[in-house]
Amino acid sequence: MARRKYIAGNWKMHKTTGEAVALAKELVDSLKGCPHKLMIAPPFTALAAVAPVVKGTNILLGAQNMASVEQGAHTGEVSVLMLKDLGVQSVILGHSERRILYGETDELINKKVILALTQGMEVVLCVGETLEEREKGKAEEVVTRQVSECLKEVSERDLPKITIAYEPVWAIGTGKNATPQDADALHSVIRKVLDTLYRAGIGETVTIQYGGSVKPENAKDLLTMPNIDGALVGGASLKKETFVPIAWFDR
Ligand code: PEP
Repeated sequence: MARRKYIAGNWKMHKTTGEAVALAKELVDSLKGCPHKLMIAPPFTALAAVAPVVKGTNILLGAQNMASVEQGAHTGEVSVLMLKDLGVQSVILGHSERRILYGETDELINKKVILALTQGMEVVLCVGETLEEREKGKAEEVVTRQVSECLKEVSERDLPKITIAYEPVWAIGTGKNATPQDADALHSVIRKVLDTLYRAGIGETVTIQYGGSVKPENAKDLLTMPNIDGALVGGASLKKETFVPIAWFDR
């Protein structure tokens, strides 16, 4: 079965509640009838206000992170139960900014993945090498380790709820994107890792997005590669004028 394209917007630490609601409304209007799977991930503070705007539309509501435990004395953290209560359907985990700026390890990310799945949430699991790792020829090794460690104890039954986002760190927010061929090659490596972790052929069934300076000008070249099933978009997801053409890349 052909994999469906999946375009998601990570709004990071941008947008007040009012700004988030305004953008969500514009996207709901402009993306009506878009055949691809769509998701937006506003900041935590805007989720409650954006939820009714996207409810019942073709845009899923995502969160950008969550705590690794369900509840308790964890000042400043946000629980999966709270997200579910707001109508959040998907959560981005293991983003490189969480890994690099907040010290998240594969082990911690794995705990979050398991918890999200236990609570019926979809996951966008981010993996990707740094520039230093790429220059040392270690991109495949790093991504293989991240995928294997972050999916530990995840059953094959739960795999349809996982999307992997391959995001080379050196391409995030830098304006430098991986070439479609380089990105496609890494996506193919990830499919082989999944075959090894689960069983032959399973990798072909998993949705793998590319992330890293995706914009209207390069979306089509990336998204029409055979192993690239969509995009996780940062900067260009903050404006209707740039996100909508990416989501409609093949119109
Ligand atoms: C991201 O944050 O996941 C991302 C890919 O950002 P950008 O599109 O801005 O590079």
